[in-house]
Amino acid sequence: MHELSIAMSIVDTATLEVQKAGAHRVDAIELNIGEMAGIEWEALDFAWPVAVKDSVLAEAERIIHRIAPSAHCRDCGHDYRPDTLYEPCPNCGNPFIAFTAGKELQIKALTIS
Ligand SMILES: [Zn+2]
Repeated sequence: MHELSIAMSIVDTATLEVQKAGAHRVDAIELNIGEMAGIEWEALDFAWPVAVKDSVLAEAERIIHRIAPSAHCRDCGHDYRPDTLYEPCPNCGNPFIAFTAGKELQIKALTIS
């Protein structure tokens, strides 16, 4: 499952950060996840407890910020909000979509203790 490997790589990153800080665990983790990042939310919810078990994230509160998609057309400069990964520019029809947001998958903040 794709989401399990994502959750486990988040655990790896958090573990490194906790070690770097000389701390023991994460109290809270904030994630920025784009709505076009290809994440199945239910699958992530399912994978999360499996991935964080016995890790620094085991007790962490998880806060997910869903980032709405937006795109910028490189041909005509039009900014728009695509509903799919392949939505062409509604202004000029340029099919090469350039996302400016909505595909991120990143740790925004860790509260460590
Ligand atoms: Zn355009």
